[in-house]
Amino acid sequence: MIANYHTHTPRCNHAVGREARYLARALEADFKELGFSDHTPYFFDEPGYYSSFRMRPEQLEDYVSTLLKLRERCPEGFQLHIGLEAEYYPKLFPRLLDFLRQFPLDYLILGQHAIFNEEEGVFSPVPTPDVRLLDQYRGQSLEALESGLFSYFAHPDLFCFTGDKAAYEKHVRAICRRAKELEIPLEFNLLGFSEGKHYPDPFFWRIVGEEGCPVILGSDAHRPQDVWDPPLLERAEGMLSSFGIRPIETLRLHSIR
Ligand SMILES: [Zn+2]
Ligand SMILES: [Zn+2]
Repeated sequence: MIANYHTHTPRCNHAVGREARYLARALEADFKELGFSDHTPYFFDEPGYYSSFRMRPEQLEDYVSTLLKLRERCPEGFQLHIGLEAEYYPKLFPRLLDFLRQFPLDYLILGQHAIFNEEEGVFSPVPTPDVRLLDQYRGQSLEALESGLFSYFAHPDLFCFTGDKAAYEKHVRAICRRAKELEIPLEFNLLGFSEGKHYPDPFFWRIVGEEGCPVILGSDAHRPQDVWDPPLLERAEGMLSSFGIRPIETLRLHSIR
C-alpha cells in the first residue's frame, strides 16, 4: 500500500486526531499519497433534520484551509488530496454539488450510508431481507457512479441484505459489471475488516474477483494509526488474493467540476 484515499477528521464527530497526525502516519508508512475524505456536509429539506456523523456546511471552509496548510508542509513528491466521502441523495445532491464546487476539492468517494434521501431513515448497514431496498441501493449507487463525479465506491458491500442469496448475487454482479465498465474501483474497506463488521463480505468479494473489477484498499481511518496497519494489510491481501484480486495502488481522481 502506497496511498490511502479514505481518511477522516474529528469534524464528523466520530473520528479522533489532528490532520497532521494522519499525515505523519502516512509518511511513516512511506506512502506517496494521502487523501482526506471526511464525511461531507449536506443540506436537508426536512426542518430540524441533520445527521450527526458528518460535518456541518459551515465547517467545510476550515476543513479545506487546514488541509491546504498541511499540504504546504508535505515533503517534496508527496501528494495530499482534499476530498470528501459523500452519499448520493438524488433530491439533495445538486444543491450539495453547487456548494462543494465553491471549494478547491480534489475528489469525492461514494459512501452510500443511506438510501433515498436519508430523511426516509433507511440506513444501509441495518439488516434487511427486502429486495426492493437492495434494488434501490444498487440503482442509486450506480446512478452516482455514472455521474462521473465519484473516484471510487467505498465499502460497496455496506448494504446489509439478509434475504435470498440468488437475488443478492444478481445485485453484486450488476454492481461489479457497471463499475468495471466505468473503470471505477471498488474499495475493500479495512475498517470494516478490522472490526469484523458484515463488510467486507467474502460472498461479495468472491464475485468481485470473478468479474475482474478494479479494486482498491481503503483504510477508512478514523484514528491516525488506522492509516497504516501492516498486520491487517497482510490479512486483507491474503483474503483478496484467495479471490484472485490484486488491488491497484493509486487512484485516478475524478474532478467534481
Ligand atoms: Zn465514519
Ligand atoms: Zn469513511
